[in-house]
Amino acid sequence: MHLAILSRNTKLYSTRRLVEAARRRGHKVKVLDALRCYMNIASSRPSMHYKGKELPRYDAIIPRIGASVTRYGTAVLRQFEMMGTFPLNESVAITRSRDKLRSLQLLSRKGIGLPITGFANKPDDIPDLIKMVGGAPLVIKLVEGTQGIGVVLAETQKAAESVIEAFMGLKANILVQEFIKEAGGADIRCFVIGKRVVAAMKRQGAEGEFRSNLHRGGSATLVKLTPEERATALRASQIMGLNVAGVDILRSDRGPVVMEVNSSPGLEGIEQATALDIADAQIEFIENRLNTGGLPENRTKTRGKG
Ligand code: ADP
Repeated sequence: MHLAILSRNTKLYSTRRLVEAARRRGHKVKVLDALRCYMNIASSRPSMHYKGKELPRYDAIIPRIGASVTRYGTAVLRQFEMMGTFPLNESVAITRSRDKLRSLQLLSRKGIGLPITGFANKPDDIPDLIKMVGGAPLVIKLVEGTQGIGVVLAETQKAAESVIEAFMGLKANILVQEFIKEAGGADIRCFVIGKRVVAAMKRQGAEGEFRSNLHRGGSATLVKLTPEERATALRASQIMGLNVAGVDILRSDRGPVVMEVNSSPGLEGIEQATALDIADAQIEFIENRLNTGGLPENRTKTRGKG
């Protein structure tokens, strides 16, 4: 196969591992920086140019599009889709997953367990917003935050009110969420490929920290999932229309609740915690899909629902 990886940096762990895995399986692979791809979107023959040359038609493309370049990155991916290239994750599904509000609404509609979550733009009555999600303690999150930055635990009603007011004063988009105390500062990352959860790790926050992000000093270990957790992770990725997903779950008293579905899950933490070759599993998935998927237009679930 001839593969392309959309990634801004060939040195990133996940990109390197995917290149290695593809080559080891005997494929040709090229890393492309989406921002440097350019295209004629109104042409009847969709094509893609890069550094002064027209690119060949790739059999499959692995998008590793950073959150800050989602809009242009997914447009580039869409162009490859129009050229008949199989996307490991489709542009529509990535766009969905990058919008926290839209994702949680989609998951909720299909009955996936979620922490009670409130969204607001300019509420005139903050105490009512707090009451609506069950009162303090509450987790308040910047919608655009990553790596745990902008995730605040407000233990009392007064603290919640001030934090919400402060964020709103900065015109930040926020969500207000029930605090799942019984998760004990840990969450579970389930790595889904196709119809299987291929790996799972438990991330535990540092002492006294409710956020389990590895960037915040958390540590990761292998974890055995319950059948309910496994089923929840699979359903969540299917609802989003993702072939590859990192589904983050909290263990709550009422069962697993999904916090987020990530469409570009990193490989470093999970491969180290589980000693599994997850890059190889992704290439294998592409091989199987291309061998058995029939026509390109039948290989993805969300096509045309833009
Ligand atoms: P980010 O996307 O920035 O990593 P998250 O929403 O994943 O932000 O939150 C960071 C961490 O905070 C999570 O990994 C989890 O450990 C903890 N956390 C987030 N939301 C809740 C919640 N509602 N209840 C308990 N812990 C939470």
